[in-house]
Amino acid sequence: MASKRQIVVGDVPIGGGAPVAVQTMTKTETANLEETMAQIHRVAEAGADIVRVAVPRDEDVEALKVIVVKSPIPVIADIHFNHTLALKALDAGAHCIRINPGNIGGPEKVKEVTAKAHNLGIPLRIGVNSGSLPKHLHDMEKEDSVQALVTAAVEFVELMDGFNFENFKVSIKSTNVPNTIAANRLLSSKIDFPLHLGITEAGTRWTGSLKSSVGLGTLLADDIGDTIRISLSTFHAEEEVKVGWEILKALKLRERGPVLIACPTCGRLQFDMDSVVAEIEQRLEAYADPIEVAVLGCAVNGIGEASHADFGITGAKNEGLIFSRGKALRKVPQDRLVEELFVEIDRYATAKEIKVDERAAAEGTEWLAQIEAENAHDLTPERLKAMEAEQAAREGAAEPLVDEESSPTAGRRFSRSG
Ligand code: SF4
Repeated sequence: MASKRQIVVGDVPIGGGAPVAVQTMTKTETANLEETMAQIHRVAEAGADIVRVAVPRDEDVEALKVIVVKSPIPVIADIHFNHTLALKALDAGAHCIRINPGNIGGPEKVKEVTAKAHNLGIPLRIGVNSGSLPKHLHDMEKEDSVQALVTAAVEFVELMDGFNFENFKVSIKSTNVPNTIAANRLLSSKIDFPLHLGITEAGTRWTGSLKSSVGLGTLLADDIGDTIRISLSTFHAEEEVKVGWEILKALKLRERGPVLIACPTCGRLQFDMDSVVAEIEQRLEAYADPIEVAVLGCAVNGIGEASHADFGITGAKNEGLIFSRGKALRKVPQDRLVEELFVEIDRYATAKEIKVDERAAAEGTEWLAQIEAENAHDLTPERLKAMEAEQAAREGAAEPLVDEESSPTAGRRFSRSG
């Protein structure tokens, strides 16, 4: 269940119905102010709501004092093992402190941190990681690792409760996707504090993105999770942010910039669609409107499943069509498709309306109809899908309870047809 409680990190609300916040962590040495600030600006530009920085030494605390002032987004200080650094990070002005109560030096040290955070009105993130469970849970972990993770998290929540501290969110992280899903589901049924979701050490851009999409996507689709971080083995933290946003966009939880849809291509393709899609995807990054842009490899199915797209192109060998919301806009030479598509997108971005030249649209519609007619008997993936759907609908249709013989409509004021 979505968390009932809300905390606020800087100016970003987490939980309690707030939009799921996207965060990431800088990969630079925090004390290297120039590089750290450059990375923070890049991740903010990519859409990070919050950024976390590692604070393992006093020189990082010194840098943190400047970072919290200069950063365009709230900053979380990530502290392990040393509660003194957590206290210093609070004094430095961090907008939130991430600690693992299990490795910070015992309950008294945790109490000191919560007391200071309480006085300053700063929230904490308390984390449980599969690799660092408290010793007394190790046997349980061998039997049931999900139960052990949740037990650790609940014990930490009770510890906070003992200190009368409520301004925190909780994270349970594991490298194991099913365990992360099961543990967060169970935890969300036991506590109502905001949850931070992530898959620890998820992997490279490719595997890490997939693991995170499966794990976090499953939880978010169940309305579990209030903020997410995608952990990828890349220096480019902005990649983590982009993946986070794609997950939220795919689930329609948040909107940010255009959505690109593209057919998978097949043997009917007659132009280099891979290059075209790559170029369109790159150019769309510069746009803020949440428009949907479709790229179809051929026009044999008409506009078909892309008819809801705000803008789209479909190509043939020499010519292509630009369409909008199910209707042809105009036919253009194949090598001008992308440029002319962006003419339409730019016009829309400025005027917020789609301009239709009736003569060009009629010409495009005719071209499309001609291609559809020429290929009317092709069993394309889309047609097969439509045929399967029709068949399923026919098979699933209930037999009429009465027919003309048992209950005639002839001579009455109604008919049963249609
Ligand atoms: S038939 Fe479908 S999948 Fe194949 S190129 Fe055309 S639009 Fe793409």
